[in-house]
Amino acid sequence: MALEFCSLSSGSSGNCYYLGNGFHGILIDAGISGTSIRKNLKNLGISMQSILGVLITHNHTDHVRGLYQLVKKSQLPVFTTSRIWKSILSPDFSITSASFREIRLQQLFHMGEFALEAFPVFHDAPETIGFHIQAAGKKITLATDLGHICSTAAAYIKAANLLVIESNYDEQMLLEGPYPPYLKARIRSDHGHLGNHQTSDFLAHNLGDHLEHICLAHLSRNNNTPERALHSLHQKLREKGIHLNGKPRISVLQRDKPSDMIHLTD
Ligand SMILES: [Zn+2]
Ligand SMILES: [Zn+2]
Repeated sequence: MALEFCSLSSGSSGNCYYLGNGFHGILIDAGISGTSIRKNLKNLGISMQSILGVLITHNHTDHVRGLYQLVKKSQLPVFTTSRIWKSILSPDFSITSASFREIRLQQLFHMGEFALEAFPVFHDAPETIGFHIQAAGKKITLATDLGHICSTAAAYIKAANLLVIESNYDEQMLLEGPYPPYLKARIRSDHGHLGNHQTSDFLAHNLGDHLEHICLAHLSRNNNTPERALHSLHQKLREKGIHLNGKPRISVLQRDKPSDMIHLTD
């Protein structure tokens, strides 16, 4: 049984990720329209009936934009903490609580053949979580919105065979760019987003032999480019004297189009 992962969309304009094992799949976040999610899955040959549910990391629009439509149309259960669930709901955005499956931080739960844990990260939402998922003998960690990597998140990130990690902004582009000072400060804060320099530095110091694939995720539209994110990582690895011989592979997830399907096999 192989594990397959792809991003339907990644970045400050919308996030939605798919993880499957050939029989069942799960979605992580629903930050693009429900129609786009269904269309993208169909193009990939994945049926909605195989989807066990959608995991939600936090209440920002770029993670929940399509959730209401998706749940209403496809009756998917929503897995998240009760604090995040409450923060998502509003008079215009009311999903029946029958769809809600409560999860607790760092407590193992199961969706079909997937064993999952949510872990806390620091970000400017009422609560934000990352996910560590085990299936088919592989471990996947996803952390897309976090101002810094605390020791709890670091442990899950270091354990991954497939790592989906934020590389949000290029520091120079952010500082010289058009955002007002308060917004620049917010993004760079410990509760904002990870910059290329932070992600690269962490990875260069913590590259385990078991890491097979790194996906740089949640790139800013205005303050980053895929080239800059990649360059930053390769530069930091070189500085540490690390030469990659095809492993781990590195991908940059795009904002406006699905990634290739990544297959992890034993
Ligand atoms: Zn986000
Ligand atoms: Zn966010």
